[in-house]
Amino acid sequence: MTPPLLKAPAREMLALLEELAAFSAPGPGVTRLLYTPEWSSAQQFLQERMAGCGLEVYTDSVGNVFGRLNGSLHRDKVILTGSHMDTVVNGGKYDGAYGVAAAMTALHALQQTFGPPLRTVEVAAFCEEEGSRFPLTFWGSGHVTGLYDGSGAESVADAEGVTLMAAMQACGLGSDRPDAAANVNTSLRNDIGMYVELHIEQGIILEQSAQQIGVVQAIVGQRRYTVKVSGTANHAGTTPMGLRRDALAGAAEMLLALERSAVKAGDPLVATTGRLEVIPGTPNVIPGEVLFTLDIRHSEAEQLESFCTGIMTGFAEIAAGRGLALEVKQTLATAPAPMDKELCGVLEQICLEQGKTWRSMVSGAGHDAQLFAPKCPAAMIFVPSRAGISHSPEEYSSPEELAAGLDVLTALLYKLAYEES
Ligand SMILES: [Zn+2]
Repeated sequence: MTPPLLKAPAREMLALLEELAAFSAPGPGVTRLLYTPEWSSAQQFLQERMAGCGLEVYTDSVGNVFGRLNGSLHRDKVILTGSHMDTVVNGGKYDGAYGVAAAMTALHALQQTFGPPLRTVEVAAFCEEEGSRFPLTFWGSGHVTGLYDGSGAESVADAEGVTLMAAMQACGLGSDRPDAAANVNTSLRNDIGMYVELHIEQGIILEQSAQQIGVVQAIVGQRRYTVKVSGTANHAGTTPMGLRRDALAGAAEMLLALERSAVKAGDPLVATTGRLEVIPGTPNVIPGEVLFTLDIRHSEAEQLESFCTGIMTGFAEIAAGRGLALEVKQTLATAPAPMDKELCGVLEQICLEQGKTWRSMVSGAGHDAQLFAPKCPAAMIFVPSRAGISHSPEEYSSPEELAAGLDVLTALLYKLAYEES
């Protein structure tokens, strides 16, 4: 069934985005780290605005903000839509905030045009996704979905040594009781029936293919490793080439092999070494030890697994051939999160009906939606990012691109919450 042609007021959303961007620590771009004064002010501002949009507003124990539009028929399962409010240091104004501002605007418009929905819809502004202040990603949506249980807030600290619990308490969250850590988790939800997230792509695929909308089929799974290659540190002048056990030369061979294999595997596989440490790191000493990181991502679990296994076999062969020792430690393993096929189909239908260009794609970045995907049908909508840049003050999507995403989100929420079946 064709949804009514509803032009959600994009101007309201764009103004909201500008207002949210003002809640930032000083410096280039937007810096809104978890449980800082600018974060608190933004979450407070959102609560007031959600109330102004006719939503029933509440917060949970970790500071996620929700705006609820009660359904007239079904209230037991909630259609949840939104994104995160925190940013990276010197980030942009669209990552996260766009999904929240668009969801609020869409619900406001739907309610004003059609009255209350049949099924309950909520906007979520998750307190944290990036893990920029504390070394925990998805602290907000992780509590809603049960990844976190509120414990651990005492043992994790930011760069200044402030514990997560102390930071929460400074915002009036958590509890000041001695058993506070055990008391944080009242955020777990069992009533989420569906999750929908609108987000900027943070990549260049939509811009390069000149398409307005990305219908996300899956969020990639990730593997991270630290690799230690050990040889013998020795005099750079007195050790002949044939008698060396050069850890850096071995690591270099491994990294080039990694790149070749990744290129051969093709999209959507990506493999990156972002950090490399050479020990002792002295111009006249043959490197005795090299530590480097690996970040490998793919949307299919089996292919991710077999690629990583193949890489490790290759690394071991290179190390053996050069008389080097190899130590590999896995530091992260997340499974790919497939989005709901039926919801993807509905999104494609909406794009057709609205005359928008769209493509199926994989998200190479992590998102709150990946925590919901194992629990309930989840969907993600992408809009283009200029030059594929994100996590930077240069992050930009045009008003027209942002408005197109809002149109699609609004139509989807209409279909899900207002239509009979
Ligand atoms: Zn984000």
